[in-house]
Amino acid sequence: MLIDIHTHVQQFNKEDLDLLIHNSKIANVGIIIAAGTTISDSEKSIALSKKYEEIYAAVGIHPQNILDENTNNYLEKLTKLIEHPKTIMISEIGIDIQKESPELSLQKDFFYNQILIAEEYNLPIAFHVRNAEKEALEIIKSANIKNIKSVAHYFLGNYDYAKRLLNENVYISVAKPFLRDEELSEVIKKLPLDQIVIETDSYPQYFKKNRQRWTEPKDLLLIIEKLSKLKNIDPEYITEQIEKNSKNILDL
Ligand SMILES: [Zn+2]
Repeated sequence: MLIDIHTHVQQFNKEDLDLLIHNSKIANVGIIIAAGTTISDSEKSIALSKKYEEIYAAVGIHPQNILDENTNNYLEKLTKLIEHPKTIMISEIGIDIQKESPELSLQKDFFYNQILIAEEYNLPIAFHVRNAEKEALEIIKSANIKNIKSVAHYFLGNYDYAKRLLNENVYISVAKPFLRDEELSEVIKKLPLDQIVIETDSYPQYFKKNRQRWTEPKDLLLIIEKLSKLKNIDPEYITEQIEKNSKNILDL
């Protein structure tokens, strides 16, 4: 079975989602994690997880979305969402340094506090890092991330950064960019298979006119195929090992 450890499938409309689920069944995708980016988006993830057996919810506030909603008492609100039986992860959290991003100190607070809440409830996390490897590593270490299972979502870094994450027992989540990026695929090639998981980060791509070309959980097959070629290991074996890693993280 394939497990998509990070998506935003709750953001699809009904019609597009039905096609996505249909395609993912054919591709043997058995579990899809729908990660929230705000409190209300996390509520949508939970609502969807009630309707579809294969969808599980992750709840969290994305660094870029901290100012989107009223975040008073956000930890209390998250705690309520954690109580739902299909909430199995804290995500999407992290640090994102861009011109239009919320202030760094605010992002650090949200990242740190959401890691602590994951530790309190013994839930795994999946975190996002953009232009902030140093800052993210500092927080990861100070929050003792080794206490829980964790995933570096949509990994695009170099081998040195990967090694630092692996040292903190972080799993590296491989997405589609390495299909075309030679340098990145050389990094991925060197990662230990027992610390790799896979994801598509699927969300509705209305900017692509051809619906068939949207990234969907079914594209995990492309990732497995490429990993198999890179590592010169049977795709069946890779699939099995990654399923094992993912279930270990998600406690399923
Ligand atoms: Zn995401």
